[in-house]
Amino acid sequence: MSDTSSTHPGTTTQAGRTEGASLEFSIERNPAPASAEVRDAVLADPGFGKHFTDHMVIIDWTVADGWHDARVVPYGPLQVDPSSAVFHYGQEIFEGLKAYRHGGGEVFGFRPERNAQRLQNSAKRLALPELPEELFLESVRQLVQIDEQWVPAAGEGKTLYLRPFMIAFENFLGVRAAQTVRYMVIACPAGSYFSDPTRPVDIWLSQEYSRAGAGGTGAAKCGGNYASSLLPQEEAYANGCEQVLFLDSSENRYLEELGGMNIVLIKSDGTILTPLSDSILPGITRDSVLELCERAGRRIEHRRITIDEWREGVADGSIVEAFACGTAAVISPIGKVKSPDFTIENPAVTADSVSMRIRAELTGIQNGELPDLMGWTQRLA
Ligand SMILES: *Cc1c(COP(=O)(O)O)cnc(C)c1O
Repeated sequence: MSDTSSTHPGTTTQAGRTEGASLEFSIERNPAPASAEVRDAVLADPGFGKHFTDHMVIIDWTVADGWHDARVVPYGPLQVDPSSAVFHYGQEIFEGLKAYRHGGGEVFGFRPERNAQRLQNSAKRLALPELPEELFLESVRQLVQIDEQWVPAAGEGKTLYLRPFMIAFENFLGVRAAQTVRYMVIACPAGSYFSDPTRPVDIWLSQEYSRAGAGGTGAAKCGGNYASSLLPQEEAYANGCEQVLFLDSSENRYLEELGGMNIVLIKSDGTILTPLSDSILPGITRDSVLELCERAGRRIEHRRITIDEWREGVADGSIVEAFACGTAAVISPIGKVKSPDFTIENPAVTADSVSMRIRAELTGIQNGELPDLMGWTQRLA
């Protein structure tokens, strides 16, 4: 829509690429990007979510004008009015996806169209405007292309993590859907989320708190779901666990998911078991795991599962593996499930375990080391 020149001194502006997008992105280059030394130091030990790239994407929306003013600008703080609705009523949604450098040097996304579609579903639930899928994809490509040097080298298991998000951006304390909204994308290089991805994580079974309820926002990727998971997460830490497992809010029996990852159990006959519920966030990692398993001829049971079924299954040897999955950590084996009343001790995982083989297959496709038979990868830069 606009390719207006920058008013900031010392910056260069050029028209962005527009193929397929309904808006043209203006580009304002960061006049003081990180030096190669600083960037290399970050890439050597990126951690997670601590160091951000030189640029960010902003697209604004108003009732009157719809989506407009798509732009790439230097990364930096926003000036936001204290009355902005997002601070008061939490009208916010987000996404998380990674850019992977393949051996040939190109950068690919993994099913980014699924993130675009999920952001639209989250937007519907939170009464936010839907961002067109192609505009989402173009926003991601724009940022990856301008900050391509921040995408870690192939072969180290490191990636560039992308965080698209959308916030109510109207200065108004009335309680209704905002009529001014902002969408943004920021990016940070990422090592693996847990220090050793094959190390089992112990999880705490939250008895007192739920993550989401029937008819609530559990299936939307919104900040509010995370806010409500932080207290039980603290309880998990206090009990020596890294993550929380949530059960359904009405009967407190059925497995839902962790604070930010889905769960999958594996039976001794190779069957894959994963919980079904309207208040689970539909993870793209879990969906991909299920598709790979289905292709490999495994039986999939996507249904309601009680905590007792897990507990008894481990006790009688019919459930042999359990893992958590999500974009950040891909697949993490679950060690113990602890609660005040009992502990489920999942069997130890070896490199040959089914979950580790699924992990190797999935990361192989993501990293471009295995053929992408499903057409899941998409070139970003
Ligand atoms: C993002 C998220 C997941 C994992 O989704 P992926 O698409 O696999 O990254 C699982 N649970 C919750 C609550 C989430 O927010």
